[in-house]
Amino acid sequence: MPVVRGEDPLMKNATILVVDDVPSNIQVLAEMLRPEFSVIFALSGKEALHLATAAMPDVILLDVMMPEMDGFEVCRRLQNDPLLRDIPVIFVTAMNEAVDETRGLEAGAIDYITKPAHPAIVRQRIRNHLQIKRQRDLLRRMAFIDGLTGLANRRRFDEAFEAEWRRAQRKHQPNALVRGDIDHFKGYNDHYGHIAGDEGLRSVAEAFAERMMRSGDVAARYGGEEMICILPETDLTGAHRVAEQIQAGLATRAIPHAASLVSKVVTLSLGVACTVPTPDSHRGDLLALADRYLYDAKNAGRNRICAGML
Ligand code: GH3
Ligand code: MG
Ligand code: MG
Repeated sequence: MPVVRGEDPLMKNATILVVDDVPSNIQVLAEMLRPEFSVIFALSGKEALHLATAAMPDVILLDVMMPEMDGFEVCRRLQNDPLLRDIPVIFVTAMNEAVDETRGLEAGAIDYITKPAHPAIVRQRIRNHLQIKRQRDLLRRMAFIDGLTGLANRRRFDEAFEAEWRRAQRKHQPNALVRGDIDHFKGYNDHYGHIAGDEGLRSVAEAFAERMMRSGDVAARYGGEEMICILPETDLTGAHRVAEQIQAGLATRAIPHAASLVSKVVTLSLGVACTVPTPDSHRGDLLALADRYLYDAKNAGRNRICAGML
């Protein structure tokens, strides 16, 4: 694997979170890193976890010995958070006992640097980990994309939904799902053929994708001709509006559908469900509710939206 030696424009935008309870230690590291990376810092484990969630740094340099929450604990908590577990953690510490290093790596750290740290070595190790992370992110993205539509696939949806659900539980914020199914699509395939059917599916996918406005929004192909989107921090009114916009986006495409019993063009039935999850509510229930509203929309005549709270 080629590893970047010199300065790489890709690295320029990388953000490094430096965590240490001693401000002068942060200053030393920040000076080493600043010419090449953006540096943010936290003076405690608790602050580090907050900042990691808010800023999504590319690498975390973590001190081990800190009062209240030590680096091992911070690392474990990062590992337990699906949104944060892929951020490489490098311990930077004065401890150089093999047992500490082992503990750090066991807690989920990717590397270990002992103080006093040599600037060039620290920078190169960070570059190496950034490079590996970027390649892994790329492979991951490819493994999580639906080949036909370019939307997220079912696996990616499940993972994102789990992560957003947990985040919503922590932050006491609403989480909404919009579930859509093409009306009389079997008839479309029978009438126009499968190739045209695939084209139609891609157009519907586009109508979903273009409404995903916020960074946490994910539109996925849930299966066959069914799409779904996760709308974090979105209430029922907002989610209903997104469903309307998806319908409107599809309507502007005006894809002829001679075999439809409800319209002259391709239409969708949509189920919208929303909840503010409590610690013991299950995300499967929200999925089932969105499915029930989708079923209601079909039964009520198709080409419409049914919505409600869990
Ligand atoms: P409804 O309004 O009740 O949803 O009717 P429908 O005909 O859409 O429902 P049904 O579930 O019976 O049929 C779904 C059809 O979607 C069956 C299949 O031909 C089509 N379909 C599913 N996946 C694909 C695909 O990848 N490509 C194409 N061309 N068609 C697909
Ligand atoms: Mg259908
Ligand atoms: Mg279907």
